[in-house]
Amino acid sequence: MDIRKILELDHPTRVDLWQDCAEILERYFARVHETSVAPDVTPEEIRARLKPLDFSQPLDPQETVKLVVESLWNYQVHTPHPKYFGLFNPAPTTMGIVGDVIAAAFNPQVATWNHSPFAVELEQHLIRSFGVQFGYELDRVEGTFTSGGTEANHTAILTALERSFVEFAKEGTRGLTRQPLVYASNQSHHSFVRAARISGLGSDAVRQIEVDDNLRIRLGPLIEQIERDRAAGGAPFVIVANAGTTNAGVIDPIAPIAEVASQQGLWLHVDAAWGGAAAFLPELKYLFDGIERSDSITFDAHKWLSVPMGAGIYLTHHPEILRKTFRITAEYMPADAAELDAVDPYVQSIQWSRRFIGLKVFLSLAVAGWEGYRQVIRHQIAMGELLRQELQATGWKILNRTRLPLVCFVDQQNPEGRTEAFLDTVAREVVSSGKGWISVTRLDKNRPVLRACVTNFRTGPEDIRALVQGLGEARKKLSNHASEDL
Ligand SMILES: *Cc1c(COP(=O)(O)O)cnc(C)c1O
Repeated sequence: MDIRKILELDHPTRVDLWQDCAEILERYFARVHETSVAPDVTPEEIRARLKPLDFSQPLDPQETVKLVVESLWNYQVHTPHPKYFGLFNPAPTTMGIVGDVIAAAFNPQVATWNHSPFAVELEQHLIRSFGVQFGYELDRVEGTFTSGGTEANHTAILTALERSFVEFAKEGTRGLTRQPLVYASNQSHHSFVRAARISGLGSDAVRQIEVDDNLRIRLGPLIEQIERDRAAGGAPFVIVANAGTTNAGVIDPIAPIAEVASQQGLWLHVDAAWGGAAAFLPELKYLFDGIERSDSITFDAHKWLSVPMGAGIYLTHHPEILRKTFRITAEYMPADAAELDAVDPYVQSIQWSRRFIGLKVFLSLAVAGWEGYRQVIRHQIAMGELLRQELQATGWKILNRTRLPLVCFVDQQNPEGRTEAFLDTVAREVVSSGKGWISVTRLDKNRPVLRACVTNFRTGPEDIRALVQGLGEARKKLSNHASEDL
């Protein structure tokens, strides 16, 4: 056997495979809306399928691809489905899929400039373009592509630490006499707590500040907590402002928070992972006032911009701090790009070898243009409005206030309509009816609500109406059960 044919299959097989894949994907795109949005499956069922695959015999490539595709088709929540009203995971852009394929094939090593000058420059070009969209000054924008918002938020914590604690990089928390503290609302993403934990600060370092009736951080308690902590010997170093919370799509008042950060001498990080896309609309930009004053921003292209996962972006106004945070040298690293006036991505990122993440973002944006994206974002916001109207017209009560297409609601018609048990059952009924994928969450930790987010550019009025109909049927079924119980 020619060993070169073990890993790289021969030309005719490859051509057949590419063709097969293209046909499979086209079939999936054409049919996904007819597929049940969520599977009904047990771990045993899937494991039984995988068990015979013990890798003792090489399998046929086409058969193996077929097996995987069939299994994904049957056993996943279909985030590309227009009735997926879930957690920000979109239907992927065509150009994003193409980008991922090309990135895999050329496999550029984007750790260093000299290995992949085009890929590195393309990513830098994008970083600047996104920075400018958020109001950053062109010649001060720096940043890095990340696996997602979690890594971007972790990067924010690390850069903010670097700014405030010069000894941290070398000595770690051991070198600090005071406990570094992070401030964020109690609605902020759990990745900050995790970042605190894995940075060695510990989860107690995240001060979760209470919110007002609209779930926005309260400035009074924020300032009081900072001052109290400082008086007690703590070392506040960063404030996080949410620009579109995961729970309820809430945007904190960024400009006033920027004022607090500046008065207190703290780093301001804005977590705009999902909601940030709304800042690209001139008519909604006011919601993000002050974001241009932030020290850093998290944005996920794999959320509202519909780029395939994972495509996170970390942006900052402080290139020198970003580099100080991550620069380490080792013998095997190619010579520094500094003499070329170019950037080696590894000096400003948690990752070393990494995927050419920027390509799928670049191809999606280049082909849609900002204007294309604005149209899509507006459409999704309009679908969110329609959902709110249809829910209110049918006796559901909306509990979150946001312009973004994320709706948190409870049942007003049923005496049990605000209980977790009721809402859980409604969500389960809706999911199993195939009329939509929605979930249950809790606002300010204790108010259970149903949560539906227009995540998909394919979602149209008919999908919204089907969801509301499914909700109505679930509610009716539950009240019938309740009256039978009497
Ligand atoms: C999704 C999200 C994150 C985490 O991003 P991942 O890409 O899922 O790692 C962080 N913050 C907010 C507000 C998010 O919506």
